Amino acid sequence: MPNHNHQLCIDNALKNAAELCRERNVRFTEIRRRVLELVWASHRSIKAYDILSTLSEKGKKPQPPTVYRALDFLVEQGFVHKVESQNAFVGCIHPEHSHNCQLLICEKCGTVEELCNENVTTELTNAAKTKTFRIKNITLEIKGICKNCRK
Ligand SMILES: [Zn+2]
Ligand SMILES: [Zn+2]
Ligand SMILES: [Zn+2]
Repeated sequence: MPNHNHQLCIDNALKNAAELCRERNVRFTEIRRRVLELVWASHRSIKAYDILSTLSEKGKKPQPPTVYRALDFLVEQGFVHKVESQNAFVGCIHPEHSHNCQLLICEKCGTVEELCNENVTTELTNAAKTKTFRIKNITLEIKGICKNCRK
């Protein structure tokens, strides 16, 4: 996602999260806010230890479990997606509604773009039914080359 004011993405994400926490009556603590801000540093996925080392560089060295707990919280609230295949995290573009999503992962630049195609979800749900399997949630990770890298 080139040529855009990314600061707006960050501001939006933090504002949305703060509002949702208020609505849901959960605490948006300083560490949770800072971790979310770092996840949103770019549209690339980021690993937990990179978050840790950035936080350490910026002064107060946080305890690793604190950061992992903050990440768990952010994933639980739907503010952040875990990219299982990379063991990394990426900010969610619409945390206000829970959704099954498809993550388009660029193998070149690491950018993760979200696709939320309802048809994919419906198809998979129906297909799983033929196996009498009830799906809880679907996060698909799709690898390829993004628009920007294909230029
Ligand atoms: Zn952005
Ligand atoms: Zn999302
Ligand atoms: Zn790319």
